[in-house]
Amino acid sequence: MIGESFSPNWNPRDTYNKGLQGNPRLNSLEHNERYSRQELFRGIGREGQKRLGGSRVAIVGCGATGSALASLLARSGVGFLRIIDRDYVEPSNLQRQTLFDEADAAESLPKAIAAVRRISQFNSSIATESQVADLTPANIDSLLDGVDLILDGTDNFETRYLINDFAVKHARPWIYTAAVGSYGVSLNVLPGETACLACIFPESPRGIVETCETSGILNSAVNLAASIAATEALKLLTGALDKVRRSLISFDVWTNERAEIRAAQPRPGCRACGERNFIHLAGEGRPHITLCGRNSVQIHERARPVDLAAMSARLEPHGEVRHNAFVLKFWREPYEMTLFPDGRAIIKGTTDPTVARSLYARYIGS
Ligand SMILES: [Zn+2]
Repeated sequence: MIGESFSPNWNPRDTYNKGLQGNPRLNSLEHNERYSRQELFRGIGREGQKRLGGSRVAIVGCGATGSALASLLARSGVGFLRIIDRDYVEPSNLQRQTLFDEADAAESLPKAIAAVRRISQFNSSIATESQVADLTPANIDSLLDGVDLILDGTDNFETRYLINDFAVKHARPWIYTAAVGSYGVSLNVLPGETACLACIFPESPRGIVETCETSGILNSAVNLAASIAATEALKLLTGALDKVRRSLISFDVWTNERAEIRAAQPRPGCRACGERNFIHLAGEGRPHITLCGRNSVQIHERARPVDLAAMSARLEPHGEVRHNAFVLKFWREPYEMTLFPDGRAIIKGTTDPTVARSLYARYIGS
């Protein structure tokens, strides 16, 4: 369980705020050298580099996508990065989550902590902040406060809709990025100008949603998606707004299929950016979570029917699974998940809603 297995000397608000003087081995000459190749690129230049140095970015979720985004932007010299993640490093992450190593997994280090430690090793001249937290309607105002841009490194629609509501409400740009299997997708949201996430996906996908735990993932697909999003972030932060892509782009690196959906304008009548009805900020779109007896948590998602036979086949490689028409049971040490056709689940082995929410998002989807 989160909070028990790693060393006691980490601090959830572990902040590396060293500034330019952070590493005495780096003198100003080296500092100038560091970004010289990026400044030579005409789209950035010295002026753009200065703007990056003064920029503040939040990355929500630091798995594969978040790792790649954080690494690229930290190396590019974005002046402040806040990394928000609710999970800890596991061995199965190392295939694609490029900020982590075997020692992090052995220690079950929170990803936000491991990420800022790694970043400080390759760029001590920027400020980073780790937040070991599940982004919720209750904490989103403080966690996303004071940043110029929000980047999506999450693995679920629930959190993305929450980010979208916040971003639209406060007119803050954000970039949606997702990858699963060999497929990646990204969308820039400029509130008031372009379509928002709810314009394009008014509802989260119903029924079985593919997740990295059930469909696997190629590290190349997630790195390509993150590279596209990181480039758009550079354009937004340096003010190259005419170069910002105004479409939802998707690609499959295995089949070579590629598609773009226009997103240059908001959809009339959009719940979020049209009616400004922020149901996710109000907590309405969130699965209802209750503590349920000793050492178990119930998650109840309304209007989210699940085909138990199909879900059973999907979960088969990941643990012991059994089902009948009424219930599915899935065992994955140390947890036992009981899933009902209406999408409700009881997760045994934890009393921590964050752990339960994370397991649900991984194996059932959200
Ligand atoms: Zn919208």
